[in-house]
Amino acid sequence: MTAKLPGQATLGVMGGGQLGRMFVHAAQSLGYRTVVLDPDADSPAGVVAHQHIRAGYLDETGLAELAAQCDAITTEFENVPAQALARLAERRFVAPAGASVAICQDRADEKAHFAASGVVCAPYAQIRNEAELAAVPDDLLPGILKTARMGYDGKGQSRVRSRAELATAWNELRNVPCVLEQMLPLALELSVISARNEAGDIVQFPVQQNLHRDGILAVTQVPAPNVSAELAAQALASAACIAAQMQYVGVLCVEFFVLQDGRLIVNEMAPRPHNSGHYTMDACDVSQFDLQVRAMAGLPLGTPRLHSPTVMLNLLGDLWFDAQGVERTPAWDQVLALPGTHLHLYGKASARPGRKMGHLNITAASAALAGDAARAAARILG
Ligand code: ADP
Ligand code: MG
Repeated sequence: MTAKLPGQATLGVMGGGQLGRMFVHAAQSLGYRTVVLDPDADSPAGVVAHQHIRAGYLDETGLAELAAQCDAITTEFENVPAQALARLAERRFVAPAGASVAICQDRADEKAHFAASGVVCAPYAQIRNEAELAAVPDDLLPGILKTARMGYDGKGQSRVRSRAELATAWNELRNVPCVLEQMLPLALELSVISARNEAGDIVQFPVQQNLHRDGILAVTQVPAPNVSAELAAQALASAACIAAQMQYVGVLCVEFFVLQDGRLIVNEMAPRPHNSGHYTMDACDVSQFDLQVRAMAGLPLGTPRLHSPTVMLNLLGDLWFDAQGVERTPAWDQVLALPGTHLHLYGKASARPGRKMGHLNITAASAALAGDAARAAARILG
């Protein structure tokens, strides 16, 4: 692929959510023209792009228009129909490729890919029919039943302790294809953001440690406070194998569990920039969104060096309501008075509990100082 040089090309993105918005901002800062395809008139990315094609993801006219306008196209969410990416790829360079996105869309395919990459995931079984349900080995219980497709932020999951609970849970998930994973004793969770270009070069950010609440990412810390250098190296190497094995092009996030006995287990991956990589916007020489731009435009990937210890706090819609449920504006003036705070709001019109409204990156000269400021910010946000 010839490079699509800054200031001279147009980059497109399928999807208009916050990840698309931050991608658009990164592309625009390099002088690219940007186009977003999303059906929603007020999408966070659509309102900041040079052009918003308001169409469904499988709309032939919309896809043709996107291909006509753009030199290269990416996606900001993994559930974009793989066939839409295939259609675009007939005319334009698309990264990541539809085939890579398709693997990430199905937990069973994803796990098969992890095995092919030589990386260990949780013991699991596929459940697609009554026979597979009956054949589930006992040692997978207690376990977590997850829909094979379309799950995110803990949705489409059910924790089950017995065969009876498993059968009920599968019914409640409408008997769609699922995987049952053994419930693992987690010590902590971490993730790795990698970027790979067409030439096969890979660059990676350092390992980050993630805390989830109710299945949604709440806090990311980097450097990861409880991860040894050996474990971090193992996670980085595993993520690189997973990307190389599918000849991935673009930014890829791989999530891992660290078990109580210290073992590293791969959980899942996302074929795009990821919430746990948002700290890179303020803490690194290039951000995960810059790397998505560089990878798809055929530019050098650079060196994603971490220059500040950082805590990222996710800002969910819950913060927009007081204890009585009355809507309010969080005290941003007080938060921004704290040292090292970088506020990113996604421009969503209305807040709802659990909705990702923005994030706060808190950079500092030391992890301890970043932690202090993060606790102070959390107290203010209440
Ligand atoms: P999602 O696509 O919703 O992010 P995940 O598979 O990452 O789904 O699961 C969400 C969270 O549930 C994980 O971050 C982890 O905290 C917990 N979890 C998932 N699978 C397991 C497992 N096999 N054992 C223990 N905890 C798990
Ligand atoms: Mg996850």
